[in-house]
Amino acid sequence: MCLLASATAAAPIPMTPAAPHNLPIAGALAKQLRAHVEYLAGPDLDGRKPGTPGNRAAADYLTARFREAGLHSFPSLGGYGQPLPQGLGDNLIGVKLAAGTGTATPWLLIGAHYDHLGNHRLGADDNASAVAILIETARTLPALQHHHLLFVAFNAEEPPFIRTPLMGSQHFIDHLPSEIGSPARIQAVIIMDLMGGVHWEPLRNTIFAAGAEKSPELYRRLKEATNRDADLQSSPLITRHSSPITPLTVLPVGLHLIEELPLVGQVSFSDYDAFRNKAVPFLFLSSGRTPRYHQPTDLPETLHYERMAATVGWLQDLLRAVDEDREPYRFEAGRMEFADEVASLRPLVSLASKQETKIPDTSFLSLWMLQKDSAWLESLDPARPTQDDVKRLERISIRLQCLLADFPGCFLF
Ligand SMILES: [Zn+2]
Repeated sequence: MCLLASATAAAPIPMTPAAPHNLPIAGALAKQLRAHVEYLAGPDLDGRKPGTPGNRAAADYLTARFREAGLHSFPSLGGYGQPLPQGLGDNLIGVKLAAGTGTATPWLLIGAHYDHLGNHRLGADDNASAVAILIETARTLPALQHHHLLFVAFNAEEPPFIRTPLMGSQHFIDHLPSEIGSPARIQAVIIMDLMGGVHWEPLRNTIFAAGAEKSPELYRRLKEATNRDADLQSSPLITRHSSPITPLTVLPVGLHLIEELPLVGQVSFSDYDAFRNKAVPFLFLSSGRTPRYHQPTDLPETLHYERMAATVGWLQDLLRAVDEDREPYRFEAGRMEFADEVASLRPLVSLASKQETKIPDTSFLSLWMLQKDSAWLESLDPARPTQDDVKRLERISIRLQCLLADFPGCFLF
């Protein structure tokens, strides 16, 4: 009693449990991923806040893992670290050169931010999960034939740095290592953020893929990874891969379904933004926010490591497919694949609108709104969307994300 009282007095930590999922973990890769997360999101590093010893310790850990993976560093940087201003710490940049020889070989970048909030918020899902996937992809993926691989662990993604020049990914694109030259030399970027969380059973083995729709060629590669025997209803867009015990579902959604907030307008949420603004094709992967988002309950024991292991394998297949493409990808900032977005959301909204399969803690009002959403989605002709149809799909998507994170007032959208 006394201990509890003094602990809460020292820091405002909610006493809600971490909601462990008893998710199975069996494979060696999943255990390896868990070891990375347990270190990076362990109490000693206290949340890896930029400019703190914990952030530096995380950078040291990444440096050691990059070295073990045989990654090169850029001579212009003299090591993996690219320092940020104001003593915030480093971006960490590792290189795996293409096996084939060629002049002006393009780059493929796989990136994830490694900083978090600190002050007892340890950031397992956000974003040790994605950094663990980054490390294991760097370790296990052999050099590609036609593209150099860049593995980048960005610093300073979290507030107050997000959407400022100090944000690690923004600093990277504004100060590209001379070996890369210009953003136009980067064929495509894959950004991962929040890759291990689970809150709703139907999404247990699902991650979302957004942004690739702005590049027709990258989107084609994403869709080619489709496997039609997916189990989440019968959307032809659902793609699968397997770890030893977990199937993976990768669900394409349009970036505007994540970014367009009612009353607020467009807001970017991760490291893809700096690349989008330079017209670099990108794919943003995320399993989305859970109720543990930015809370002290975002802890290593709540993550789905087997799904993360499956993601490592899926990423490798995707990168090998992208490596076949020798022509530069096009990029059209306003491009969307509305019919595919509808196909992705229809089964989710249908499940979320039913009492038996609803998202935990859905209020009566939200359930009623979702039933109307679901009926509208079923009657919609996705081949000819009006501006109002696009707006409504955005509101439905935000309602789902709101419920999945257990934010208040989700019926308002
Ligand atoms: Zn965050």
